[in-house]
Amino acid sequence: MPLHIQTPLLASRALSRLAGKPVWLKLEALQPSGSFKLRGVGAACEAHARNGKTRLVSSSGGNAGIAVAYAGRQLGIPVTVVVPETTTARAKALIEQEDATVIVHGASWMEANALAQSMLADPAVAFVHPFDDPLMWTGHASMIDEAVQAGVAFDSVILSVGGGGLLSGVVEGLRRNALAQLPVLAMETVGADSLAQAMRAGRRVELDAITSVATSLGAKAVCENAYELSRTHDIRSVVVTDLEAVDACERFLADHRILVEPACGASLAAIYARDQAMIAEVSAPLVIVCGGATADLPQIQAWRERLSA
Ligand SMILES: *Cc1c(COP(=O)(O)O)cnc(C)c1O
Repeated sequence: MPLHIQTPLLASRALSRLAGKPVWLKLEALQPSGSFKLRGVGAACEAHARNGKTRLVSSSGGNAGIAVAYAGRQLGIPVTVVVPETTTARAKALIEQEDATVIVHGASWMEANALAQSMLADPAVAFVHPFDDPLMWTGHASMIDEAVQAGVAFDSVILSVGGGGLLSGVVEGLRRNALAQLPVLAMETVGADSLAQAMRAGRRVELDAITSVATSLGAKAVCENAYELSRTHDIRSVVVTDLEAVDACERFLADHRILVEPACGASLAAIYARDQAMIAEVSAPLVIVCGGATADLPQIQAWRERLSA
């Protein structure tokens, strides 16, 4: 039994009417850790357990850290998550709720990650990277297996891109199901658009800073594999504003009663925002509703007020 669950696949009436075409939703927000991350993180942690590791370490104060904490508790392996001082009380509480140890260290992720790396001298300790790990991509690919097994005739996938782990896993899933020709709409927000900038520059680029509220998309550079895929797969990069992403979160809550982070709102914005230009060339998109556990409704409303001011 894997650690993740098989998630519902819905034909969204609200989004299909808006788009004027069938829109399918893969509801990864319903994973027990609150995001798709559990698929890949769970697979990686199970491999570490098989290899005799007795402690798991993460430096993510977001959905990856929560997923590692959940996986460790399920596997009976202690987890330490090192997070920077900027991590919200809610994120720390979500990690601690899974019985993991949270260490707050440093002003930024770089310093927290450096402390996490210093814990790896012991060969019984495994570090779980939030996106750059082939074991994890293979785990993420299972969401495409499920959509194919459900017999749904989707002709494209819409997903969000941070460091590119989800993108890597979805393309692996398409390829292993003989769907390598399907286009992927790679959604990012302004200020977290490391894939869009890399595709424009023709090489991997590092952003100076992450300025988007979609913090789960905040990798300064996408992983090498994600950049390579942008050259070998039909990947169409789309960048939306923070306001469009936050607006999509609120409208999705009204339509489907599920609260997601702006990182996921970026994908939903492909349907909710503007004039459908983004989805004009596809006829039955599968939207990966990737979820996100760290935002709550007051926070989303505060963002909307600030962004629309
Ligand atoms: C991690 C995450 C992403 C981005 O995934 P990558 O694998 O880093 O590209 C998007 N949305 C949510 C909710 C996430 O947790």
